[in-house]
Amino acid sequence: MGIDIAAAKKEKERKIAQEKKKQARDKKIQAGIEGFKKGYRGTSHICTMCGRPGRPKRFISGNILLEIFLWCLFLLPGLIYSIWRHMSTFYGCPDCGTPTMVRSDSPVGKKLMAES
Ligand SMILES: [Zn+2]
Repeated sequence: MGIDIAAAKKEKERKIAQEKKKQARDKKIQAGIEGFKKGYRGTSHICTMCGRPGRPKRFISGNILLEIFLWCLFLLPGLIYSIWRHMSTFYGCPDCGTPTMVRSDSPVGKKLMAES
């Protein structure tokens, strides 16, 4: 009898530990989602060049049609062109196009927000 109780208790403890682990993981995921939403919404960033608050815009060099064209005709140039395009992708200011936007909750961002 004593062994059964001990085993049941151990099992219960194991379940509790597992539940706690799961909760911690869920919390982590939730925090990540919140952070992502916060970072990419509204006036999350500010441009250090022109002081424009807002969301950075994605800039991709080259042309999607040329990329498809190259892929259809020659495989290797298409691949090289794709790699080049994706390597030169950057996030920049929607107004002046410079990749100098900083997070508005960073020390530099806070300073700029206060000035503007
Ligand atoms: Zn700008």
